[in-house]
Parts: sequence; C-alpha cells; structure tokens
Amino acid sequence: MDGLTAEQREIVGLVREWVDREVVPTAPALEHADEFPEQLVDDMKGLGLFGVTIPERYGGLGLDLTTYALIQVELSRGWMSLSGVTNTHFIAAWMIDAFGTEDQKERYLARMATGELRSAFSMSEPHAGSDVQAIRTTARRDGDGYAIDGQKMWVTNGLRAGMVMLLAKTDPAADPPHRGMTGFIVEKEPGRPSQRGLEISRPLKKLGYRGVETVELAFEGFRVPSSSVLGGAENAGFQQFMSGIELGRVNIAARGVGIATAAFEHAIRYAQERESMGKPIAQHQAIQLKLADMATKLRAAQLLTLDAARAKDEGRRADLEAGMAKLFATEAAEEIVFDAMRIHGGYGYSEEYPIERLYRDAPLLIIGEGTNEIQRLVIARRLLDRHAL
Ligand SMILES: Cc1cc2nc3c(=O)[nH]c(=O)nc-3n(C[C@H](O)[C@H](O)[C@H](O)COP(=O)(O)OP(=O)(O)OC[C@H]3O[C@@H](n4cnc5c(N)ncnc54)[C@H](O)[C@@H]3O)c2cc1C
Repeated sequence: MDGLTAEQREIVGLVREWVDREVVPTAPALEHADEFPEQLVDDMKGLGLFGVTIPERYGGLGLDLTTYALIQVELSRGWMSLSGVTNTHFIAAWMIDAFGTEDQKERYLARMATGELRSAFSMSEPHAGSDVQAIRTTARRDGDGYAIDGQKMWVTNGLRAGMVMLLAKTDPAADPPHRGMTGFIVEKEPGRPSQRGLEISRPLKKLGYRGVETVELAFEGFRVPSSSVLGGAENAGFQQFMSGIELGRVNIAARGVGIATAAFEHAIRYAQERESMGKPIAQHQAIQLKLADMATKLRAAQLLTLDAARAKDEGRRADLEAGMAKLFATEAAEEIVFDAMRIHGGYGYSEEYPIERLYRDAPLLIIGEGTNEIQRLVIARRLLDRHAL
C-alpha cells in the first residue's frame, strides 16, 4: 500500500511473513474443526499483537490505528478469525485508554498489552442489535457496587476472555434512553461457563468465523464494584461505546481488504494455471474482466480503509470516513470472493480450496459493527449535516 512509513512496512512485513508461515498452512483444518487456535494466539501474544495500540508506558507497542488496520489486513488474509480474537480486545483497550480512570489504566492495560488478560465487547442482546438504545440489561446500585441483570447475545471471545466491556442501563427510565446507559469493565473468570451470577452458553454454531467463540451471557445479580464503571462516569456509556465501534468499523473494513486480497491472489494464480479450450482461463476475456473489476474494487477498498484510519489517527471526527470504508470494503469483499469462486469453477466450492471459507466468512462483515444499512444512515446523516442549507 502507498505512503507507509518504514516502521509500518517493517511491522506489516513481519506479520505477513508469520501469517504465510504459520497461519496459511494451519487455518483450514482448525477452521473446519471449529477449534480455537491456541498456538497461533500464543504466537500473536509473542508478537505483541494484543498491545499494538496500547501506549508504551503500559507495555504496548504504542502504534497508531493505521498500523493496527494494516496488521488486521494481514491477519484476515490468513484467517479472519484471528482478527476476531484481537478486535474486541483492541476496542476495549482503546476505550480504557481514552475514557478510563488512571486506576483503570494501571489495573488493566499492562496485562492487556501482553494478552495475559483478553477482553470481549458486549452491546448486542437477543432482541436488539442495530437499536442499541433498546437494550434491557440493567446495572442497579447495590451496596458499594452494582448488580447486573440481563441477557447479552453474540459476545465474541465471551468465554475465554477474562473481562467484558459491557453496556448496561443504569437509568432505565431515561429519555432519550442513551442518557441512562453506562459502560462497565466486567471482570470474570476466563474459560468458566458458570460462575456466580453469570451463565455462559455453549459457543453458537456459525456459518463462518469459526475457531473464535461467540456466546450468550446471562447475568443474574452479577456483582461488580463501583470502580468498574468506565471512567467512573455513570450514564456516559452510549457515547463511549459509539466511539469504540467507530474504531471497530475501521477494523472491519481492514478485514474486508484482507479477505479480498486473499481471494484475488488465489484467483489470479488459479486463472493462469487452469486451462480450458486450449489455453489458460486467464486468456479468456470473460475472466480478465472479472480480474480487472476485482483488483479495482480491492484498490478502492484499500484506499478508503487507509483514509479512515488516517483521519482517526489525526484526531479528526471520522464517522463518515469509517462508515464509507466499512460499507465499501465489506461489500467489495463479498463481491470479490464470489468472483474468485466463479473463477475457480467447481473447485471453488470444495473444501480443498480456501475460497469456500472466504465465502462463508465475508458476509459477517456486512452485518458486524453496525450493518451496512446502518452505515448508509450514518453516512447520509453526516452528509446532510455537512451540506445543510
Ligand atoms: C458472528 C457474530 C459475532 C458478533 N459479535 C459481537 C460482539 O462481540 N459484540 C456485540 O455486541 N455484538 C456482536 N455481534 C452482533 C452484531 O453487532 C449484530 O448482529 C448487528 O449489530 C446487527 O444486529 P441484529 O443482528 O440484531 O440485526 P437487527 O438490528 O435486528 O437488523 C435486522 C435487519 O434490519 C436492518 N435494520 C435495522 N434497523 C434499521 C434501520 N433503522 N434502518 C434500516 N435498516 C435497519 C438491519 O440492517 C438488518 O438488515 C455479532 C454478530 C455476529 C453474527
């Protein structure tokens, strides 16, 4: 990609090399078995990938969002689920750094930087995903802390993580509802499905995005101390979580670029190896048109993703850029993967080739971190603000 610093090139090069050496050969079997990639996650801890954006004073690498996004491209090029293992953690660490109290930064960031402590991120509920203000989970004052009650859905990393960045209502009567929502740093025992006040479901069976668990959390009188309120600020949670998912959107765009890169690289190689009617299929114009469209969409997705990451790094309001990058890169990924499958013919449909996995992974990107319908609403709102008469 263009305009990268020497440091960014070096880090991205290191991750790429590791992905090619360790992830590409092992991901297919792990994914088909829906098995958590223990060894790869340990390697990622060793590479410092759980602390990419955590400041150096807490033991992280202290790198910017652009470098983080470039790393996510490489991870997703190998296996999108690795990006799933790091993303909720990355959002939670960023939120603690941005909004947390000094005590919270001291308590969590150093252990998060090494990956010793991993975090999930939980807003969605069985009846409410896009409509965040409709959540029903409550945290009610109870002695010197809070008691949490409610049902959370689709919590990625929710079993193995040692903490959950959780959104709950502290003032269920607030109008508008977002004024009564609070962020909690909920500590729990990693890997234990049943603990006092918290039951964790078996991992949900998913079309793709396998290997990383996605679970339901049922809270019933789960006790947390007052010090777990993010930033010590009751009823500030909605804005904090919206800022968090804005970053998440850049990450989802980067995943789209990663998946699309893998699909394109497989397709252009296969098109030159596979022959029909006496010549490589790459010599048929119908295939060339596909390759040209795929590469053009991929390039546009890369540039929009970099644009959003850089806007965020410059401290600018970036919901427009992040929304556009997420929308375009994920729709492009879906189309590019499908074209790659068509280029592979019947083999694209076989588990022997990685295309079927990319095909199953890509649609999640259209749904996660705000569906693409919601992205369009965010984009349109910002455009109307900007062009108001
Ligand atoms: C594998 C997986 C992992 C996930 N991991 C997490 C996680 O770690 N943490 C977490 O909090 N959540 C997670 N989610 C949840 C995800 O963020 C939601 O699924 C997503 O926000 C959509 O919400 P929903 O599924 O409730 O769909 P709904 O909100 O019910 O939407 C259904 C449809 O209606 C459309 N729609 C809704 N409202 C509008 C509107 N106002 N205008 C136009 N169209 C609209 C949507 O675009 C969609 O097409 C995960 C989901 C999946 C599938």
